[in-house]
Amino acid sequence: MEHPLAGKVVIITGASSGIGEATARVLARLGCRLTLAARSAGKLRSLAAELGPAALAVPTDVTLGPEVMQMVARTVERFGRIDVLFANAGIYIPGQVAEGDPDAWANLMNVNITGVMRCVHAVLPYMMEQRSGDILVTSSISGFIDIEWEPVYSASKHAIQGFVHTLRRQVAPANIRVGALAPGMVANELWGFTDPAEIDRHVEAHACLRSEDVAQAAVFILSQPPHVTIRDMVMLPQNQDL
Ligand code: NDP
Repeated sequence: MEHPLAGKVVIITGASSGIGEATARVLARLGCRLTLAARSAGKLRSLAAELGPAALAVPTDVTLGPEVMQMVARTVERFGRIDVLFANAGIYIPGQVAEGDPDAWANLMNVNITGVMRCVHAVLPYMMEQRSGDILVTSSISGFIDIEWEPVYSASKHAIQGFVHTLRRQVAPANIRVGALAPGMVANELWGFTDPAEIDRHVEAHACLRSEDVAQAAVFILSQPPHVTIRDMVMLPQNQDL
């Protein structure tokens, strides 16, 4: 039997690494048509080449309005519609407020919050016209509890939770679903983990998830029948003490 996501047109931001890349791989296997968005053009192009003609690489900085609009327009030009926005791009800054850099925080807010809002704003006209669509945002456990070693990041993900919950209610009458996928620690480039052996060690200690685990959760959320919305999914490594 065909998978419910086969043939769906999915935009993934942050597709050049980590959770976004892992989700692109699994959705490609399920027969989705994909727009891969992030700033690293080389990484996106090699992933698109690997995934085949159903994947379109569109280098995009989610903080730049014209680039976001163009990325969405190119998706519609190529695939004719947009079924899913996986608004996943994000950056991380931990640390003491007293020692931090407010300009770096402003950039984090721009990527993690406004970047998500820009992408949502750009896809909504198409989804509203179709009277269908799924918007899934990568939040974090840091959007559910106040994590004291990452106050700025935690504030950005709390903002995402507020946005997701209000947006969901605004667009539900247009038959659009909105949800948040909120992982705990994922062993990937966000933490500087690139060595597969190092990733395995953290996972085997039950201290980290894999990007692929989060990708499977995204597939689960997006595969629900039309009457079901997963509003929030919090997933943690078994041994994360939060
Ligand atoms: P990665 O660092 O591997 O991926 C981040 C992605 O975001 C990259 O593809 C990066 O691509 C992209 N990105 C960053 N800035 C921009 C920008 N301005 N415009 C477009 N794309 C951008 O980490 P993850 O895969 O883990 O991160 C994905 C999401 O998961 C983030 O929202 C993060 O907050 C969230 N998350 C991560 C956790 C973890 O422990 N790793 C835990 C909980 C949530 P490029 O640099 O090419 O632009």
